[in-house]
Amino acid sequence: MNTKYIFITGGVVSSLGKGIIAASLAKLLQARGLKVTIQKFDPYLNIDPGTLNPYEHGECYVTEDGAETDLDLGHYERFLGVHTSKANNVTTGKIYNTVITKEREGAYLGKTVQIVPHITDEIKRRMLLLGNSGKYEVILTEIGGTVGDMESQPFVEAVRQLQWELPEEDCMSIHLTLVPYLKAAKELKTKPTQHSVQMLQQCGVQPDVIICRTEHELSGDVRRKIALFCNVQPGHVIQSIDAWSIYQVPLNMHEEHLDELVVRKLHIDNYNRPELGNWCRFLDRLKSPEKEVDIALVGKYVALQDAYKSILEAFIHAGAACNCRVNIHSILSEDITEDNAPEILKGMKGILVAPGFGERGLEGKVHAIKYARVAGIPFLGICLGMQMAVVEFARDVLGYKDAASAEVNPMSPHPVIDLMEDQKSTTIKGGTMRLGAYDCQIEKGSLAYNIYGSEFISERHRHRYEFNASYAEEFEKAGLKASGHNPQTGLTEIVELPSHPFFIGVQFHPEYKSTPENPHPLFIALVKAALNA
Ligand code: GLN
Repeated sequence: MNTKYIFITGGVVSSLGKGIIAASLAKLLQARGLKVTIQKFDPYLNIDPGTLNPYEHGECYVTEDGAETDLDLGHYERFLGVHTSKANNVTTGKIYNTVITKEREGAYLGKTVQIVPHITDEIKRRMLLLGNSGKYEVILTEIGGTVGDMESQPFVEAVRQLQWELPEEDCMSIHLTLVPYLKAAKELKTKPTQHSVQMLQQCGVQPDVIICRTEHELSGDVRRKIALFCNVQPGHVIQSIDAWSIYQVPLNMHEEHLDELVVRKLHIDNYNRPELGNWCRFLDRLKSPEKEVDIALVGKYVALQDAYKSILEAFIHAGAACNCRVNIHSILSEDITEDNAPEILKGMKGILVAPGFGERGLEGKVHAIKYARVAGIPFLGICLGMQMAVVEFARDVLGYKDAASAEVNPMSPHPVIDLMEDQKSTTIKGGTMRLGAYDCQIEKGSLAYNIYGSEFISERHRHRYEFNASYAEEFEKAGLKASGHNPQTGLTEIVELPSHPFFIGVQFHPEYKSTPENPHPLFIALVKAALNA
């Protein structure tokens, strides 16, 4: 079978959940036994989202191979349970960077370099890259942004060309739109969908399937109307009604026969019913938990849900695994002072201090950690959260009042968190952190060992600063133990307080690897500890 390509565009408004739809369809195809991956093409000019403030574009998701990517890749991994890579996220910045570098190298032999064909050729090359690897049977490509945006035009043009170049049965196009409900008229309105599809058609792309986001059931009449005006079969107008959980969407799409019509359109001989037993069991547990627990998420980007997407999802997975609803209380770290910490954090059965960068809200994190440490509240610190746990301990237990991370106070006489050696010569900000999967060896008998049930683990990273090993002995004597290290470099990956019921800080990001079918042991352990607190 040739590799099959599915292109997904969006129209009318942004934030319709294209990533969830792409992930849901991919899940259904995977559950039918097909080898599937998803890639995202983003129309912005940054090379990657690594330099973007989370308030701009949500969390930056990190892959095994160290790519800083769009948060939709997190959805892809969580739904499919397979790793994505650098090749799965392409931006306009990356495309232009390649083309301009080639132009400087003289690769275009004196030709005028243009959007068509040079930029679109590079887009097409990248769209086919994963397909050419031979590892996948179906490649879903999500085009970021909204059809009609100036930025996304070259991507839509590349889709048009590919649909023309590839055999008809090897590719298809899906368009996601919004069908708004007008309360006053008590009516679902199809006009925005009609206009959006017209815009796509003007670019030469005829969608094979239209998926309509809606708050109310689409009647047969509404479906027929959309089909008539948009030139698709009525059965190819699919409703995506608001779901109680994003993880319910694959089942909703299956009910709408999306996977069935996709395999038919792509001439894939596959009559399997999707095998979704594990997925459904996860959903059942998620839907009717027997217990609940309150956990604080302390961070500086809490006003935007998407900024800590993977952490919030990891709690959903862990909660389901523990038969428990995890109520996350997002707390702005800037609001926390030493005096008000007990009041603000009252009733919390667990505290997670989030990753982050820079000075804002940092002291609030330190106060939250002190409260967790002294009051015996289960605590998990991730990356900057772990680093601040080290700083707090140095200040309060070792008595180094001026202990700090060199990130915010390079002049501190006690830089208990220091810049990594290989970062000292780095001046460029983009893509230069310690990124991606690294090994960690865990000390037997430690809390971490207990949690993972293994001595050797691998987790993903995104940082420039590290635990300053010259203080390790002093810390250990005073009760803060470094229980996990990188076996090659000795870098401290995990710290814990054996005298505390549950206090652990990790330099890596466990949240990136948690999935519904494989919830992360650290999150499960925190939820369990919180349930016992
Ligand atoms: N800013 C810290 C560092 O670069 C922590 C990074 C993070 O939390 N991801 O080391």
